[in-house]
Amino acid sequence: MRYVRGSLIHVLAGTCLLASSFSMAAKPPPAPAAPQGWDRTVRVADYLEPAIPHPEQDKAVQEKLKQLEAKTGRKPNILIILVDDMGYGDPGAFGGGEMAGAPTPNIDRIAAQGLKLTSTYTTPVCTPSRAALMTGRIPARSGLTRPLLASDRPTKNPWADEMSAANLLSKNGYVTGLSGKWHIGEGKGMQPQDVGFDEFHGFLSVVSEYTLYMNGAKYPQLMLNPDRLKTFKGQSEYNAVVEGKKGGDLKIVYPLETPKQMGNVDQDFANWSVDFIKRSAEAKKPFYLVHAFAKVHFDNYPADGYQGKSPSKLPYKDAVVEVDDIVGRLMQTLKDNGLDDNTLVFFTSDNGPEEDSYPDSGYTPFRGGKGTTWEGGVRVPGIAYWPGMIKAGRVSDGLFDLMDLFNTSLALGGVESKIPKERYIDGVNQTGFLLSDTGETARQAVFSYNQAEFSGLRWGEFKAYFKVMPFDQPFSNISMSTFVPVGVAPWIFDIYRDPKERLSRSNGDYEWVYGPILQLQSMHAATFKKYPKKDIGLGVGGDPR
Ligand code: CA
Repeated sequence: MRYVRGSLIHVLAGTCLLASSFSMAAKPPPAPAAPQGWDRTVRVADYLEPAIPHPEQDKAVQEKLKQLEAKTGRKPNILIILVDDMGYGDPGAFGGGEMAGAPTPNIDRIAAQGLKLTSTYTTPVCTPSRAALMTGRIPARSGLTRPLLASDRPTKNPWADEMSAANLLSKNGYVTGLSGKWHIGEGKGMQPQDVGFDEFHGFLSVVSEYTLYMNGAKYPQLMLNPDRLKTFKGQSEYNAVVEGKKGGDLKIVYPLETPKQMGNVDQDFANWSVDFIKRSAEAKKPFYLVHAFAKVHFDNYPADGYQGKSPSKLPYKDAVVEVDDIVGRLMQTLKDNGLDDNTLVFFTSDNGPEEDSYPDSGYTPFRGGKGTTWEGGVRVPGIAYWPGMIKAGRVSDGLFDLMDLFNTSLALGGVESKIPKERYIDGVNQTGFLLSDTGETARQAVFSYNQAEFSGLRWGEFKAYFKVMPFDQPFSNISMSTFVPVGVAPWIFDIYRDPKERLSRSNGDYEWVYGPILQLQSMHAATFKKYPKKDIGLGVGGDPR
């Protein structure tokens, strides 16, 4: 029934468009061609996600970039700052900060002096989020659909037929670096230096895979059982901070054994990033650096000098203060090396706050948290900062997906045309959106998945769900959630007036929204016919394997 109603709306909308074309018949508008139904995008190639065209905005931005390159003599640097599990509501610029007992003056400053993006989206958990950012692809297509555990043995190397932005940039004049957390494959051929990073300094997994064997009070069932502990630690040969150079093998810098070491890893990663930036400046080469924090993923241990540094005194909040200090340090390094006006800085978090680890967790004003496709799981702080290129004080609710950083980074590096054609790219180039003073997004919709399964989408101010993730009790988004189909109709929320997604008015006030939602969903589903999901043995479609 709802399809019939959707079609009816579609027809009515079409009639209005015809009427408006007719009234303008004497002076026909220039291109673009009449949109098809609700779709406002243009598809330029089978393998590329269609984007909303903004020709004038893009032209002006290209001119601006050309002028900058003429001045600096090289392509711009790209610095992506990725915090682990930071909530939308943690930074002051997004409503947290001082109010939440953890001031974030440095993050707030780049938000105030750059572009604050209030609708930045990602995936519900770490591995798919990082995979999407690096490859520009929905994780269902790359197979990297859920966090990799040390005990996982993928049936194939997901990277064998993936292309990272780092790879393309490294081949085209950039030095590429990853500082900090990887978490997109531990085996040979899947490590950062194997898949496009010239240099890597960090760890392969996630904080909690290391702290599990460090805290006997919290994990006694593992820690106090020698056989279990030995087996657990034996799952990985890299329980350590490691380093790799393109084409080479990983080497262990130091094993991760104590809470004190874990507490200080972000200081180590910051030192390395500062050095990487300085070396790139000296070499006069543009860089692409992903600075991926270990914090604020649980278990948070304090870095030297940070215990009790936040007004809140909680370990999580002390970690937020440390992250903010490091952001300030990285910004100062750019400035000291004369690079701040030639570097796009993008600050964000890989997913929503992990409420399951409360109180060692962050805050989101939205429903749910990490692990869910609710807004709390997939909507994160986003800041684009570039003095002289991004107008200070801009704020936009235009849609931005972290996988757009793939296309945007390649566009800035002048190598967007070198994106291989054999796999579907879900990201879109957002250079015009970020750099034009009045930039509008090129993204029409954001699609959310739970692992390899489609859950819902955001279009305009509406969020629509085809499968939802109820949780049995608060703060159990991962531990006690389910993933179930909706009933007769998609659940639809107006997240402008109901940001917490409390009441779906799907079959009442928003019945007209079925039309656009169903059209977008079917356009999206159609892309999988030619470019199917990939199975690397982590379970496609939720099948346990
Ligand atoms: Ca994460």
